[in-house]
Amino acid sequence: MLKAVWRVGAAGIPVIEEFRYKKRACFGPRRVVPRGFSNLRPFWWRRFNFVERGVCSLEKKILEIKERVLSELKKAESFDAIQEIRVKFLGKKGELTQVLRQMGTLAPEERPRIGQLANEVRALLTERLEKKLSILREQEKEKKLKSERIDVTLPGRPLRRGHRHPISLVLEEIKDIFTAMGFEIAEGPEVEWDYYNFEALNIPKDHPARDMQDSFYITDEILLRTHTSPVQVRVLEKSVPKVPVRIIAPGKVYRRDDDATHSPMFHQVEGLLVDKRCTLGDLKGVLLAFARQMFGQDRQIRLRPSFFPFTEPSAEVDISCVNCGGKGCRVCSWTGWLEILGAGMVHPRVLETTGYNPEEVVGFAFGMGVERIAMLKYGIPDLRLFFENDIRFLHQF
Ligand SMILES: [Zn+2]
Repeated sequence: MLKAVWRVGAAGIPVIEEFRYKKRACFGPRRVVPRGFSNLRPFWWRRFNFVERGVCSLEKKILEIKERVLSELKKAESFDAIQEIRVKFLGKKGELTQVLRQMGTLAPEERPRIGQLANEVRALLTERLEKKLSILREQEKEKKLKSERIDVTLPGRPLRRGHRHPISLVLEEIKDIFTAMGFEIAEGPEVEWDYYNFEALNIPKDHPARDMQDSFYITDEILLRTHTSPVQVRVLEKSVPKVPVRIIAPGKVYRRDDDATHSPMFHQVEGLLVDKRCTLGDLKGVLLAFARQMFGQDRQIRLRPSFFPFTEPSAEVDISCVNCGGKGCRVCSWTGWLEILGAGMVHPRVLETTGYNPEEVVGFAFGMGVERIAMLKYGIPDLRLFFENDIRFLHQF
């Protein structure tokens, strides 16, 4: 049979393009007209068909999609909802995209108009979507700002200020007292030669005095210094033959002790004065001035004979008890005195070793444990408290 091939012309008028000869059988599976109806359609059939499938339907669909999107957008209250609308209408399989695929069925002269309409609608919808998104973002931000608002009227948290360790405090005070008397501060290495730590200080190998100062050896000749006295030797070697030499040498020292009253690391301050003329009386005067500035103006000191290999004569120096003032109490073991340091006149052999002539110059030296001074000054009962870093302890200074 002959079949008319038609398309939609201008103003929606169907135009018959050609007639094709078709076998009747071709109608079988694709039949539009139900069996029993004639394929002679009523006069309105084509018009009806054209309205449903032609220009008007496409335009209608586009406009209808626009209305639906706008109304759904109004209701959308979340980012997810907006994303859903975007996918549903504008996505690859979205409704608008599906409709635009049918553009091919339009007459060539209709395509530009419908195409333009579709593009306008797409642009409008995209713009509305973005607008809604930005409104939502703005709302979100406002919500966040409100929930995270800082109440500036609340009182701030106090900043805890750090401060120095009691050992550092005492060390500073010792330095201040001696520099005010004209002593300079000298420093030496903590990793020291056996020569400076012992031999130059008149403590040869196998000397019994070494037993009291067992050290940490790095090699047979290198060790961690057991006292600050090697600084004496280093300074004297450097300044020979100049006099006077007045130094104090503060620093860390190390010994192989670890019990309630000894720590393997502790602090000492060494003092040294070498001049053409100086006496044991000068030493006592310097130490008395120190004791009074450190522990109070009513302190007394006394010198007890003692032995150190590098001083001759040597003395242990006591101050009158800071607790009882000399009457006797538990702190001073009922003696009224507290030992604070060792001192003496520099041994002629030490002067000789460093290049000075013991016939021409004379000197005195003293050394004290900073922990001991701090314990007496602050009434600290246990040496270990200094190194345990307990904040409750450190906070008191
Ligand atoms: Zn006492």
